[in-house]
Amino acid sequence: MQIAIDGPASSGKSTVAKIVATKLGFVYVDTGAMYRASTVLAQKLGLDFGDEAGILAALKHADIQFKPDQAGQKVFLNGEDITLAIRTPAITNNVSQVSALAGVRTEMVARQRQLADQGQVVMDGRDIGTTVLPTAEVKIFMVASAQERAKRRYAENTAKGIMTPLATLQAEIELRDQKDSTRAISPLKKAADAIEIDTTQLTIDEVVDTILAIVKKNM
Ligand code: C5P
Repeated sequence: MQIAIDGPASSGKSTVAKIVATKLGFVYVDTGAMYRASTVLAQKLGLDFGDEAGILAALKHADIQFKPDQAGQKVFLNGEDITLAIRTPAITNNVSQVSALAGVRTEMVARQRQLADQGQVVMDGRDIGTTVLPTAEVKIFMVASAQERAKRRYAENTAKGIMTPLATLQAEIELRDQKDSTRAISPLKKAADAIEIDTTQLTIDEVVDTILAIVKKNM
């Protein structure tokens, strides 16, 4: 069984996808982390974030690995732990430029399908239901108001000691959504057969339970 969870930035996809995967004993694949790792790679090499040929050449030989960890999942690029590096503002605010590059998407989608071939999977991203796993048995599209998503990100950041103003966070989230939704290739879009869940008023547990009920119906 394949479960595809798509939605805009900070809609809670990865938090929920991780819990659903653990409860079902499925593999969890965070495809956003793969585009973020590609952006870290470009940054490390001093490449322009629009340099498709340069990024792609480096990416062909790049090893991106996920390893389960008590706090969730660690991300490694060529053996180096980049779990924290992929969440820095410099990466978050440039990832949409890298993820819009056609060659980068082709390479990432191929790797994502390989991961999905290894067994039962919960995969989250922007184009999982539309492009990566179009025959997934369960497709979820998670949305929440930009204000609520910014509030959640603000609370997460405050806990980590990062003090970006709420209004800045909301503007960054809206800009990233706009870029991800309007790019030419595989834009953020609800698949025709996806079930939309608006999480604005829901707790994490409520979203998880809603998805598990949908999975049960499809089993
Ligand atoms: O999910 P997350 O916010 O970590 O994703 C980071 C970025 O990666 C997105 O803003 C988007 O540009 C890109 N992405 C994508 N396709 C996916 C997953 C993420 O283009 N399937």
